[in-house]
Amino acid sequence: MNIHEFQAKQILGRFGAPVPKGQPAATADEAAAAFTALGVPKAVVKAQIHAGGRGKAGGVKLVASADEARTFAAGLLGKTLVTHQTGPQGRVVRRVYVEEASAVARELYLGMLVDRKAGAVSVIASTEGGMDIEEVAAKTPDKIITEVVNPLLGLAPFLARKIAFALGLKDKQVNQFAGLLASIYKAFIETDASLVEINPLVVTQDGRVICLDAKMSFDDNGLFRHPDIRELRDPNEEDADETEAAKYDLSFVHLDGNIGCMVNGAGLAMATMDIVKFYGAEPANFLDVGGGASTEKVAAAFRIILSDSRVKAVLINIFGGIMQCDVLAQGVVEAARQVKLSIPLVVRMEGTNVDKGKKILAESGIKVISAADMADAARRVTQAIGVGA
Ligand code: GDP
Ligand code: MN
Repeated sequence: MNIHEFQAKQILGRFGAPVPKGQPAATADEAAAAFTALGVPKAVVKAQIHAGGRGKAGGVKLVASADEARTFAAGLLGKTLVTHQTGPQGRVVRRVYVEEASAVARELYLGMLVDRKAGAVSVIASTEGGMDIEEVAAKTPDKIITEVVNPLLGLAPFLARKIAFALGLKDKQVNQFAGLLASIYKAFIETDASLVEINPLVVTQDGRVICLDAKMSFDDNGLFRHPDIRELRDPNEEDADETEAAKYDLSFVHLDGNIGCMVNGAGLAMATMDIVKFYGAEPANFLDVGGGASTEKVAAAFRIILSDSRVKAVLINIFGGIMQCDVLAQGVVEAARQVKLSIPLVVRMEGTNVDKGKKILAESGIKVISAADMADAARRVTQAIGVGA
């Protein structure tokens, strides 16, 4: 789960990381009031969307009066901001963040993430801050510093100082940076974060090291331990179908193809996507309905798949272990009746209560293409949309 910049800064600030003071605003008048309340000569007004690249896209502006803050906020709020990270459809700006302006001397990059290869948390840092870090990594990989944090030692001060020196920090900044990094690491571990990105981390003209931008992502599977963070979920920033699926505890991810897939078990779901591709079509989604899915859950899953107008055929691939084929069949029949199924439906079922399941489908009056095995199912579903062999 992702959160907004101002929320990430609030969390990091609570853990002791230096962040500029600021206030979120949902209207132009609130933005003007925020400027006045901050009591600073200059502020930055920043669009709050779950995407970076706002600076270059006109979503960040330095202002020197409440009126200027109001005018800029009025121009942003309710508008769609297109940045290189939003895709061409952009994102609607529903809030801005008004923050005390900083006099920037240097822009650095600091990231922290769950490094699967290292099996630990890694710190990524670079002197090339404020830029697209993927581009820096591609063009000048030697400018990226990566340090793995030993999970038992935690973020040792020597490691923080090593990174500080590599970033060219001097004197008091070295210890400031070490303190900042320790705060971020503590926040990262204690909130079950998967990513923290400070781009840029800046050295101000008066020599302070502060977080000028902040992005935080959290492990969805850790959110039950953090009800306060879970509250920060912004449905406006998320895929509506994925949000709907989450309500039913379904693992659903939108993809770009046109074969809707309903599968139980993540491994079988991956294999199903592979075999659909092998036969020449593209899956429209990843969907794992889980082990002991109820009729209601199956019906919800089927509705979500069919609500996507790009879906031209559906492939149901179920292995009945804990999941029972008759329960699945009942859910499919209910959902198919509700939505008046009008596209080809291929079903491959195997396992517990498979005969009962097949009987329910056969007697339902719904047009079902039965498949003998996975390969047969993939072949039939691709043929149904006129591709494949
Ligand atoms: P992003 O473009 O979405 O990543 O948004 P950022 O928060 O990184 O802001 C973009 C750029 O605006 C930064 O890289 C800075 O160069 C600039 N910027 C943001 N806040 C300030 C500030 O307080 N003072 C100055 N001088 N520049 C700022
Ligand atoms: Mn940034």
